[in-house]
Amino acid sequence: MGKQNEGAFDKNNLWGVDLGGTKIEGVILKSAQDPQVLYRDRVPTEADQGYEHILGQVKKLIDMMEEAAGYRSESIGFATPGTLDPKRGVMKNCNTVAMNGKPMKKDLEKILGVKVEMANDADCFALAETRFGIVKELYPDARVVFGVIMGTGVGGGIVIDGRAIVGLQGIAGEWGHNFLDESGGPCYCGKSGCVENVISGPALQKYYFKETGNNKPLKDIVALAESKVDPTAQKTMLRLIEFFGKALSVIINILDPDVIVIGGGVGNIDLLYDRGVDSVKKYVFNDRLDTPIVRPSLGDSAGVFGAAFLVADPH
Ligand SMILES: [Zn+2]
Repeated sequence: MGKQNEGAFDKNNLWGVDLGGTKIEGVILKSAQDPQVLYRDRVPTEADQGYEHILGQVKKLIDMMEEAAGYRSESIGFATPGTLDPKRGVMKNCNTVAMNGKPMKKDLEKILGVKVEMANDADCFALAETRFGIVKELYPDARVVFGVIMGTGVGGGIVIDGRAIVGLQGIAGEWGHNFLDESGGPCYCGKSGCVENVISGPALQKYYFKETGNNKPLKDIVALAESKVDPTAQKTMLRLIEFFGKALSVIINILDPDVIVIGGGVGNIDLLYDRGVDSVKKYVFNDRLDTPIVRPSLGDSAGVFGAAFLVADPH
């Protein structure tokens, strides 16, 4: 894509980088008030070549951004696949495993010569949808937002007054590893029955497989349930709805957010927005449910836009 809008580059720009497992994407937004995209480009992560190589790829991207903008931002936001442990200063829980245990913030600051702000991709998703996406559009006065990613994994991010809340241990919003139901079985995190093991895409596929012996992609299971030709597919969706209500009501009881945004592949399932909401209503500690539960509007771009907003002032 490269340079798109020459002449609009200035010190109000927000620089963000989404550090993905396969690609590293960079964006320059005009400003927090007017977040139009001035520049956007990407380089491959090539994570199999190791941590030092990933740092080199980031540097390459930032050099490209500098060349386009004619200056280097003093601070850059990064969306990461895991979390920076605030106490130890090293990465953890990254599915790009080469990053785990590495002092990535410090290393990037040294290599790039800039101040680095980091948050995990679910936090960045929540921040982007709040300040640039569906929340800004439909609920501009929302102060507390919970952004959910329900896909291969289940994660979440909390935004309060336009700021991503990372937490004392860097785990704020990580509802995917709350306990939900023993039937979820052992989780990679070392616990058992995690939300992720019950309502993620792979968990739903696994449940369907256990019941039928057929290994089907989630979208086929959803289609079979919708056309009401496959009772087990319907059962799989009923199970999702039931546990979606149980899992999300816990969040609402604690945080009582002004709006919840649901992203990720599982978040595309239509049933969540009618029967799923009824299920949340059933389990929440209230006689009604006022919490809007909405779909995101930014698609795959949320990570990189959210990263850019990490270096913006709160509204
Ligand atoms: Zn877990």
